[in-house]
Amino acid sequence: MPEVYVGHQAIERALDFLRQEGHRRVTLVTDDNLYEILGRKVETALKEAGFETRLIVLRGQVLADERSIVQVLLPRDEGERIYLSVGSGTLTDVTRFASHRSGCRFIAMPTAPSMDGYASDGSSLTIGGYKQTIFSRPPIGIFADLKTLTEAPRPMIASGFGDMFGKFTATADWKLAQVLWDEPYNEEIARRSRAAVENCAAQARVFGQDWEANIHALMSGLLEEGLCMLAVSSSRPASGSEHQFSHFWEMKMLREGRPAVFHGTKVGIASVMTAGYYRLIRGLDRAELKARLDAARLPDWEAEIAGIRQVYGPVAEDVIASQKAYMQMTPEGFEAYKHRILERWDEVQAIAAAVPEPETITALLRQVGAPAAPAEVGLTDEDVRQALRYALYVRSAYTVLRLCQALDLTLQPA
Ligand SMILES: [Zn+2]
Repeated sequence: MPEVYVGHQAIERALDFLRQEGHRRVTLVTDDNLYEILGRKVETALKEAGFETRLIVLRGQVLADERSIVQVLLPRDEGERIYLSVGSGTLTDVTRFASHRSGCRFIAMPTAPSMDGYASDGSSLTIGGYKQTIFSRPPIGIFADLKTLTEAPRPMIASGFGDMFGKFTATADWKLAQVLWDEPYNEEIARRSRAAVENCAAQARVFGQDWEANIHALMSGLLEEGLCMLAVSSSRPASGSEHQFSHFWEMKMLREGRPAVFHGTKVGIASVMTAGYYRLIRGLDRAELKARLDAARLPDWEAEIAGIRQVYGPVAEDVIASQKAYMQMTPEGFEAYKHRILERWDEVQAIAAAVPEPETITALLRQVGAPAAPAEVGLTDEDVRQALRYALYVRSAYTVLRLCQALDLTLQPA
């Protein structure tokens, strides 16, 4: 597990950690904007402390793509060096990938509390125009300078809260997947993830009263989520239906050349929608459940595949391939699945009861100045309709969307 620190001594702690780990040669990776904000200070501290320091500054708008990766890999080097990234998610992902592929370790200095991926072992990269998560390696240490975080752009802070509020539904989906689909589950990690979002929600309710405390809690929560994911080698503690919606929109917007929206911002909006599905579950009594299960049929996969091809375009075949386990379900298997839903309905209800009302999540988002409705970030009714219908096919994870498909429960676009 990476060593994690959030506070006012991030640079000193990082230097101590480097010494302790036996590193004397450091490649500092940042961009021109963040060099002025924090990078120069880190560089000076490294040099004054006697570290042999090489600086790579990416210019202009940095994307997590081939161009940035090559820029980081370009300087010739002999011998072992540790990478140190000073930046937000994009720059961290580029450095994570470059360090792993060059066989070097890396430490991260996050500059914005915008999402939970800093501790991740995957790099979110856009290669050949296609966004994917590529296996690399987690940083061995994460040192976040609180002052820099508090001065991060407000939309990035709002995005971080959105990513956190997604954990209300992500943890519920994870448990649901265990109960109805036998997916591996870890109660202790789920509790940690849920505690982290509760803590951030408490901060949202007093947002602006003690800015440092607000931001400290947010960054700590985001890093805790990262550690939870590493602990179970899975994104399940922090990612469920709300991330399926978010990824669906992200791919669609990218394909259509529309301006990008921060990851956590989309997740926050989608967690309101997902909470709406859990409300539908709560509203279902046993009699209606039975009636719906009696009426339930296996999906007409031919029609589904045609629909997937239409809405997913160039990535449709990957999406279809990820649905194999569901497509192979036999009529007998489907009967057993329906039986299980009925048998374990009390547990399903208990899971749904722990998910806040959509209005509660909306209020939390409003408190931190985050968008809560799709239209606020340029998502159209059609984007929402397609997501409600097809986002459940983003990856193979079992989520409440899959349960609602079987029960023919649909959320009406707001
Ligand atoms: Zn996320």
